[in-house]
Amino acid sequence: MIPGARLVMLGKQGAGKGTQCVRLSRHYVVPHISTGDMFRASIRTGTRLGVQVQSYIDSGNLIPDDLVISVIADRLSQPDTLGRGFVLDGFPRTVPQAERLGDLVRPHHLDLVVNITVPTSLVLERLATRMVCVDCQTNYSPEQSPKVQGVCDVCGGEVIHRKDDNEEAIRRRLELYETQTQPLIDYYSDRGILLEVDGVGPVDDVTLRLIQNLDEYLVKGRTHES
Ligand code: ADP
Ligand code: ZN
Repeated sequence: MIPGARLVMLGKQGAGKGTQCVRLSRHYVVPHISTGDMFRASIRTGTRLGVQVQSYIDSGNLIPDDLVISVIADRLSQPDTLGRGFVLDGFPRTVPQAERLGDLVRPHHLDLVVNITVPTSLVLERLATRMVCVDCQTNYSPEQSPKVQGVCDVCGGEVIHRKDDNEEAIRRRLELYETQTQPLIDYYSDRGILLEVDGVGPVDDVTLRLIQNLDEYLVKGRTHES
């Protein structure tokens, strides 16, 4: 049996976090929970939540903690996450969110928090040119564009340029990452569960690096527990 995992992924915008989270969720057979994807889906379907969050997302600002926490609390109470765990992508993003997450996962704890590191010069270039499938969230770049323009290779969905991947919103998101999310590196490092992984290089190499590092820690952690 493949053991589940409770993982949090950190990394600035454009670090390749979304792509790697999808792969890790398949590897460990746990749901990929992306707050950004959940909010974008609610905007597309026009729910009340979508109306509440749209202006924050479009401008690159953070959605208020209480609102994000209520969405995550609901998701983490569902049987799939309670049973096998999760790969959390985009949550927590502030220290108050991290504190609430600790309460929400109890009596379990997080296995690991992974920080995918990449230089800012590289992420700026990636963000300005990336395209994404609105249905399955596969990312595309000029080097790896869909075979048919605008159509996702994986699911046939529409491939678009994200509205918040414009210069102003990118600048704002990176600024908020530094002031609000970066402190989580120390927060989790102090708790002894932070793992830093280099996010530079071909996507497959980064996945391999992540899985090798994670497996080592997950196995070690479980041995200590038993
Ligand atoms: P990125 O990491 O590229 O900014 P995401 O898809 O993770 O993209 O998030 C998109 C937007 O969704 C954020 O800019 C923010 O407005 C909102 N958002 C997502 N997760 C959170 C969160 N944990 N707290 C506050 N806002 C969030
Ligand atoms: Zn797709």
